[in-house]
Amino acid sequence: MAHTSALAAARHGLLARQGWDVEAKGLQGSPAIRILANAHHHSSVTRSLRLLGLGSDCIEPLGGKTPVKVDADVLQAALAQAPYAQTIVILNAGHLNIGACDDFEVLCPVAQASGAWVHVDGAFGLWANASPRLAPLVKGIALADSWATDGHKWLNTQYDCGMATTRDPQAHSAAMRMIAAYLTSGGPVRDPMDFTPEWSRRARSLPTLAALMELGRDGLAAMVERCCDHAVAIYDGIAALDGATGIAHPTMNQGLIRLDANNGNNISDAVIAAINASGEAF
Ligand SMILES: *Cc1c(COP(=O)(O)O)cnc(C)c1O
Repeated sequence: MAHTSALAAARHGLLARQGWDVEAKGLQGSPAIRILANAHHHSSVTRSLRLLGLGSDCIEPLGGKTPVKVDADVLQAALAQAPYAQTIVILNAGHLNIGACDDFEVLCPVAQASGAWVHVDGAFGLWANASPRLAPLVKGIALADSWATDGHKWLNTQYDCGMATTRDPQAHSAAMRMIAAYLTSGGPVRDPMDFTPEWSRRARSLPTLAALMELGRDGLAAMVERCCDHAVAIYDGIAALDGATGIAHPTMNQGLIRLDANNGNNISDAVIAAINASGEAF
């Protein structure tokens, strides 16, 4: 829903520029929207595009020379194919398997120079910015136009504390706001209902705020760093075992290791099943 809210804001913002009221007219007959996304986007991005009427087939995947990262020249070439298109560029802060983050400092200005809206999947990666040690991983992330992240991951709040932040509150509320005679308005104050898909919604912000206040700025940074340190320790410990081959050393909170039997057969799935069956670790 965080992706859906942010991408609905993007959809509004881009189409409003073309004089198209997408909330009233929908997407039938609208100017086209291009979606350029890191080829290794999370499937929740795909689902949001489905819900928003853009469809999963609209995604044009971007790659590059570094695994799961988008190269600036690849993005530039894709944008140049349709310089007048309304484009949303979707980047990763924390890839699902190896934690890789796109180079926001370089990619955001390239996208925005052609009028594109940059959305970041920061489910995990946005929190790296809280740590002075890890923040360089997501350098330039503040340049994007919208971000989705989760409280229920690194912040350890209960499900479901998804969060959407956009640079353009007008586009965000225009995408969500409904007016009904029976609803009273508090005047010129921000009504959360104008920024979410639901009218009736639990106050998920409260546990999120409580967790942030309990940890404090330093506590949050320490928790994120500690988790990353543990990931490295677990990775190094497993990678030193017989039959283990390191594939991707953790840059953030996850890494990839392959496990082979003496005969060279990949036994990763069997080892995972045995670990999970032990109940000691997952
Ligand atoms: C978990 C995750 C999501 C989806 O988050 P939910 O709020 O749990 O649905 C999206 N992107 C990435 C990279 C994730 O790790």
